[in-house]
Amino acid sequence: MRKWNGWGDEANSFPATQQAQDFLLEKLGQAQPLRDASLEEVIARVPPSRLEPHPGIQTGAEIRVRHARGQSLPDWLAMRSGEIGVFPDGVAEPTTRAEVRELLHYAREHDVIVIPYGGGTSVVGHINPLSGGRPVLTLSLARMNQLLSLDPISQLAVFGAGTPGPEVEKQLRPHGYMLGHFPQSYELSTVGGWVASRSSGQQSMRYGRIEQLFAGGHVETLTGSLELPTLPASAAGPDLREVVMGSEGRFGIIADVALRVRPLPEREEFHVAFCPDWETAVACVRTMAQSDLGLSMLRLSNAEETQTHLILAGHARAVRWLERYLALRGIRQGKCMITLGLTGDDDQIKQARVAALKVLGRFSGVSTGSLLGRRWAANRFRSPYLRESFWQLGYAIDTLETAVDWVKVPATVERIESALRQALQDEGEQVLVFTHLSHLYAQGSSIYTTYAFRCADTYAQTLKRWQKLKALASEALVAQGATISHQHGVGLDHAPYLAAEKGAEGMACLQALSRHFDAREQLNPGKLLPAISKNNLK
Ligand SMILES: Cc1cc2nc3c(=O)[nH]c(=O)nc-3n(C[C@H](O)[C@H](O)[C@H](O)COP(=O)(O)OP(=O)(O)OC[C@H]3O[C@@H](n4cnc5c(N)ncnc54)[C@H](O)[C@@H]3O)c2cc1C
Repeated sequence: MRKWNGWGDEANSFPATQQAQDFLLEKLGQAQPLRDASLEEVIARVPPSRLEPHPGIQTGAEIRVRHARGQSLPDWLAMRSGEIGVFPDGVAEPTTRAEVRELLHYAREHDVIVIPYGGGTSVVGHINPLSGGRPVLTLSLARMNQLLSLDPISQLAVFGAGTPGPEVEKQLRPHGYMLGHFPQSYELSTVGGWVASRSSGQQSMRYGRIEQLFAGGHVETLTGSLELPTLPASAAGPDLREVVMGSEGRFGIIADVALRVRPLPEREEFHVAFCPDWETAVACVRTMAQSDLGLSMLRLSNAEETQTHLILAGHARAVRWLERYLALRGIRQGKCMITLGLTGDDDQIKQARVAALKVLGRFSGVSTGSLLGRRWAANRFRSPYLRESFWQLGYAIDTLETAVDWVKVPATVERIESALRQALQDEGEQVLVFTHLSHLYAQGSSIYTTYAFRCADTYAQTLKRWQKLKALASEALVAQGATISHQHGVGLDHAPYLAAEKGAEGMACLQALSRHFDAREQLNPGKLLPAISKNNLK
């Protein structure tokens, strides 16, 4: 069963090894876990629903708790403390486009706010109901989770928008196809959520971001239905698919999604290599990204992340052997780990491997083969469970991400990391910070930073610590001219920084679109764009 107050399935875990615990102790100091509220305590706090009865809307307390928050750190703190504050007044789980239309009609009639909900894996406050005068309906797409059609000639598959990652691949596989969209939240995030928040999968180098995979679909809006035809390309004016991508539930409900799929590859390998230092490693992966090597994935961990990963792996003896071997090859302190994905048939894999090794050699890099790569692949969707293990020890962990042109990558990493490291200095608190580049383009790269800190004595003080960290890091991004998000979207937490990227004209244009689709601000108000009418929200 899905956890109500954290990541993933209750049956899964990723325990912190003794070595990992010692590492956290050394870096951050002894910590004291905060007390978790129970589900029963939270259920007892749910107020009566304000919704007019509707046969398709459930108003029970538990389902409202389970749809009240996403997966950001403030969401986590709210769920763990039980101080959730605002709950949706009801949850609907339609099964067809017609039912979605009917629920939107109901919302219009009764002046109800509607929050589209995919997998609820948002890490920026996308799906949280906000306080205000009007009742809130969370519209979950969870039951629209099937492959609706497959056109093998055009390699297009249409899915219900609520289909989660594993179901997408499971339903395509018997037909010999795959999508290849693997965000780390793959276990729970959905096709509609990917489109609405412009997500990016771990192997975007081969399969593309959701922008490249999203071929068209069907959207139900408060003003009518919007059909997005699956044209391979079109010069007929601005592309409306771009309006829907990143709309974060503000313009309508994405009911079904046509995706560009591919035949299953013969096989896949992941290899791990090391470069002697960060500067050389960045030059190495940039050269690879700009050389069309045919890799399916390329990621580079900085020295701190490399060290942390090797410690968290929990195989101290094997790591000692690895380090001895690398030292013999001239790679010591400050080494940076590169993970490469190779996908295709034997010839394609061989060609890409040989080409990548050639570049690696030019930058004094050393390949360690596929053993560590296999380990990475086995854990690729497990690491989010570490948040729970850290939490039980009294540490909070969060991530942030951005993208910039290559020319700005080193300075941006430096600014983000130093902003985070200094953020809690006034309290004498250390912050553990490490970074990787995970989506590499010819023009630039995404930057993904993880940070961990000690929980304070209370939930409120812990939230304040996070707010300081987030604000300083976000300001550093803006100062660098970096995007406020490469893949997580805007939601609530990034909304104050959106104008820095879009400019006044751009913001006015987005507001005009929102007014067109939703003049009375009923669709997920306050997310992406500030609410126009203040009495809608607090
Ligand atoms: C552990 C973890 C790892 C993550 N890793 C990645 C990653 O590698 N790459 C990445 O891109 N993101 C990642 N994310 C962020 C998140 O998973 C993505 O933003 C994802 O696309 C959200 O999908 P969802 O189905 O959960 O959407 P939700 O969280 O339910 O919703 C997100 C937004 O989309 C809107 N929405 C959802 N469905 C619809 C619909 N059918 N119609 C209209 N609007 C809709 C919602 O209203 C909301 O504004 C991660 C999150 C977590 C918790």
